[in-house]
Amino acid sequence: MHYLVYVSTASHLMNEAELMAILETSRSRNTADNITGMLLYKDGSFMQVLEGRAENIKNAYERIGKDHRHDGLILLRKGKTEKRNFPGWSMGFRTVNAEDMENIPGFQSIKDGRFTDPAIVENPHIAMTALKAFNA
Ligand code: FAD
Repeated sequence: MHYLVYVSTASHLMNEAELMAILETSRSRNTADNITGMLLYKDGSFMQVLEGRAENIKNAYERIGKDHRHDGLILLRKGKTEKRNFPGWSMGFRTVNAEDMENIPGFQSIKDGRFTDPAIVENPHIAMTALKAFNA
Protein backbone atom coordinates (compact mmCIF):
# COMPACT_ATOMS: atom_id res chain seq x y z
CA MET A 1 0.00 0.00 0.00
CA HIS A 2 1.38 3.42 -1.00
CA TYR A 3 0.42 6.93 0.09
CA LEU A 4 1.27 10.53 -0.59
CA VAL A 5 0.49 13.85 1.09
CA TYR A 6 0.58 17.20 -0.69
CA VAL A 7 -0.48 20.79 -0.12
CA SER A 8 -1.68 23.25 -2.76
CA THR A 9 -3.16 26.71 -3.17
CA ALA A 10 -6.70 27.11 -4.48
CA SER A 11 -7.06 29.32 -7.57
CA HIS A 12 -9.51 31.42 -5.52
CA LEU A 13 -11.45 31.15 -2.25
CA MET A 14 -13.76 28.19 -2.84
CA ASN A 15 -17.45 28.18 -2.05
CA GLU A 16 -19.29 25.11 -0.85
CA ALA A 17 -20.64 24.20 -4.30
CA GLU A 18 -17.15 24.29 -5.79
CA LEU A 19 -15.75 22.13 -3.01
CA MET A 20 -18.63 19.68 -3.42
CA ALA A 21 -17.95 19.44 -7.18
CA ILE A 22 -14.32 18.50 -6.47
CA LEU A 23 -15.41 15.93 -3.90
CA GLU A 24 -18.03 14.35 -6.11
CA THR A 25 -15.54 13.68 -8.93
CA SER A 26 -12.88 12.58 -6.45
CA ARG A 27 -15.12 10.11 -4.71
CA SER A 28 -16.37 8.45 -7.87
CA ARG A 29 -12.89 8.22 -9.46
CA ASN A 30 -11.28 7.06 -6.23
CA THR A 31 -13.89 4.37 -5.65
CA ALA A 32 -13.17 3.00 -9.15
CA ASP A 33 -9.40 3.11 -8.49
CA ASN A 34 -9.62 1.77 -4.91
CA ILE A 35 -8.03 4.97 -3.57
CA THR A 36 -8.86 6.24 -0.09
CA GLY A 37 -7.80 9.43 1.69
CA MET A 38 -8.64 12.78 3.17
CA LEU A 39 -8.90 16.31 1.81
CA LEU A 40 -8.66 19.36 4.09
CA TYR A 41 -9.51 22.88 2.99
CA LYS A 42 -8.70 26.05 4.90
CA ASP A 43 -8.76 29.65 3.69
CA GLY A 44 -7.70 28.92 0.13
CA SER A 45 -5.30 26.07 0.86
CA PHE A 46 -5.72 22.35 0.37
CA MET A 47 -3.97 19.44 2.02
CA GLN A 48 -4.70 15.94 0.80
CA VAL A 49 -3.59 12.38 1.44
CA LEU A 50 -4.12 9.67 -1.17
CA GLU A 51 -3.53 5.98 -0.44
CA GLY A 52 -3.80 2.94 -2.67
CA ARG A 53 -1.79 1.05 -5.28
CA ALA A 54 1.34 2.90 -6.38
CA GLU A 55 0.24 3.19 -10.00
CA ASN A 56 -3.24 4.43 -9.11
CA ILE A 57 -1.84 7.03 -6.72
CA LYS A 58 0.65 8.21 -9.34
CA ASN A 59 -2.04 8.58 -12.00
CA ALA A 60 -4.40 10.39 -9.64
CA TYR A 61 -1.67 12.80 -8.50
CA GLU A 62 -0.80 13.58 -12.12
CA ARG A 63 -4.46 14.30 -12.93
CA ILE A 64 -4.90 16.40 -9.80
CA GLY A 65 -1.72 18.34 -10.62
CA LYS A 66 -3.19 19.45 -13.95
CA ASP A 67 -6.35 20.80 -12.37
CA HIS A 68 -6.70 24.58 -12.74
CA ARG A 69 -8.73 24.88 -9.57
CA HIS A 70 -5.48 24.86 -7.63
CA ASP A 71 -1.74 25.23 -8.22
CA GLY A 72 1.63 25.29 -6.48
CA LEU A 73 1.39 21.67 -5.42
CA ILE A 74 4.08 20.65 -2.93
CA LEU A 75 4.57 16.94 -2.34
CA LEU A 76 5.20 16.63 1.40
CA ARG A 77 5.51 12.89 1.85
CA LYS A 78 5.17 9.71 -0.09
CA GLY A 79 5.94 6.14 0.85
CA LYS A 80 4.58 2.79 1.88
CA THR A 81 2.14 2.05 4.64
CA GLU A 82 1.20 -1.40 5.89
CA LYS A 83 -2.48 -0.60 6.08
CA ARG A 84 -4.78 2.22 5.06
CA ASN A 85 -5.11 5.17 7.45
CA PHE A 86 -8.46 6.11 5.93
CA PRO A 87 -10.24 2.83 5.20
CA GLY A 88 -13.77 3.41 4.00
CA TRP A 89 -13.12 6.99 2.88
CA SER A 90 -13.16 7.31 -0.92
CA MET A 91 -12.25 10.88 0.04
CA GLY A 92 -12.96 12.22 3.50
CA PHE A 93 -13.35 15.96 3.64
CA ARG A 94 -13.13 18.69 6.25
CA THR A 95 -12.98 22.44 6.15
CA VAL A 96 -10.93 23.39 9.15
CA ASN A 97 -10.71 26.41 11.41
CA ALA A 98 -8.37 27.60 14.12
CA GLU A 99 -10.46 25.91 16.81
CA ASP A 100 -10.10 22.54 15.11
CA MET A 101 -6.37 23.06 14.99
CA GLU A 102 -6.20 23.75 18.74
CA ASN A 103 -7.22 20.15 19.34
CA ILE A 104 -4.38 18.62 17.36
CA PRO A 105 -1.17 18.08 19.30
CA GLY A 106 1.86 19.28 17.35
CA PHE A 107 -0.16 21.25 14.86
CA GLN A 108 0.43 24.63 16.46
CA SER A 109 2.77 25.80 13.72
CA ILE A 110 0.10 26.08 11.06
CA LYS A 111 -2.94 26.80 13.15
CA ASP A 112 -3.13 30.41 12.06
CA GLY A 113 -1.44 30.01 8.73
CA ARG A 114 -1.77 28.31 5.42
CA PHE A 115 -0.97 24.69 4.68
CA THR A 116 1.81 25.96 2.43
CA ASP A 117 3.50 27.65 5.40
CA PRO A 118 7.22 26.69 5.44
CA ALA A 119 6.69 25.15 8.90
CA ILE A 120 4.61 22.33 7.47
CA VAL A 121 6.74 21.94 4.38
CA GLU A 122 9.83 21.52 6.56
CA ASN A 123 8.08 19.11 8.91
CA PRO A 124 5.75 17.00 6.78
CA HIS A 125 5.10 14.59 9.69
CA ILE A 126 2.83 17.31 11.05
CA ALA A 127 0.70 17.02 7.92
CA MET A 128 0.14 13.30 8.36
CA THR A 129 -0.64 13.75 12.07
CA ALA A 130 -3.19 16.41 11.23
CA LEU A 131 -4.85 14.43 8.49
CA LYS A 132 -5.13 11.37 10.74
CA ALA A 133 -6.63 13.51 13.47
CA PHE A 134 -9.46 14.45 11.14
CA ASN A 135 -10.25 10.83 10.34
CA ALA A 136 -12.80 10.70 13.14
P1 FAD B 1 -11.62 16.33 -16.56
O1 FAD B 1 -12.88 15.97 -15.80
O2 FAD B 1 -11.56 15.98 -18.02
O3 FAD B 1 -11.30 17.86 -16.30
C1 FAD B 1 -10.21 18.50 -16.96
C2 FAD B 1 -9.95 19.81 -16.24
O4 FAD B 1 -11.13 20.63 -16.27
C3 FAD B 1 -9.61 19.66 -14.76
O5 FAD B 1 -8.23 19.43 -14.56
C4 FAD B 1 -10.07 20.95 -14.18
O6 FAD B 1 -9.04 21.92 -14.34
C5 FAD B 1 -11.27 21.33 -15.05
N1 FAD B 1 -12.54 20.98 -14.39
C6 FAD B 1 -13.14 19.77 -14.34
N2 FAD B 1 -14.28 19.82 -13.66
C7 FAD B 1 -14.43 21.11 -13.27
C8 FAD B 1 -15.43 21.81 -12.53
N3 FAD B 1 -16.52 21.21 -12.05
N4 FAD B 1 -15.23 23.15 -12.32
C9 FAD B 1 -14.14 23.78 -12.80
N5 FAD B 1 -13.17 23.16 -13.50
C10 FAD B 1 -13.31 21.86 -13.74
N6 FAD B 1 -9.66 13.58 -8.61
C11 FAD B 1 -9.57 12.29 -8.24
O7 FAD B 1 -9.78 11.41 -9.08
N7 FAD B 1 -9.25 11.95 -6.96
C12 FAD B 1 -8.99 12.86 -6.00
O8 FAD B 1 -8.72 12.50 -4.86
C13 FAD B 1 -9.03 14.23 -6.38
N8 FAD B 1 -8.74 15.21 -5.48
C14 FAD B 1 -8.73 16.51 -5.89
C15 FAD B 1 -8.33 17.51 -4.98
C16 FAD B 1 -8.31 18.84 -5.38
C17 FAD B 1 -7.86 19.88 -4.39
C18 FAD B 1 -8.69 19.21 -6.70
C19 FAD B 1 -8.65 20.64 -7.12
C20 FAD B 1 -9.07 18.23 -7.59
C21 FAD B 1 -9.12 16.89 -7.21
N9 FAD B 1 -9.50 15.88 -8.09
C22 FAD B 1 -9.40 14.56 -7.71
C23 FAD B 1 -10.05 16.19 -9.42
C24 FAD B 1 -8.99 15.98 -10.49
O9 FAD B 1 -8.14 17.11 -10.52
C25 FAD B 1 -9.63 15.78 -11.88
O10 FAD B 1 -10.46 16.87 -12.20
C26 FAD B 1 -10.48 14.52 -11.91
O11 FAD B 1 -9.71 13.43 -11.43
C27 FAD B 1 -10.95 14.20 -13.33
O12 FAD B 1 -9.82 14.03 -14.14
P2 FAD B 1 -9.94 14.20 -15.71
O13 FAD B 1 -8.57 14.06 -16.29
O14 FAD B 1 -10.99 13.25 -16.20
O15 FAD B 1 -10.36 15.69 -15.87
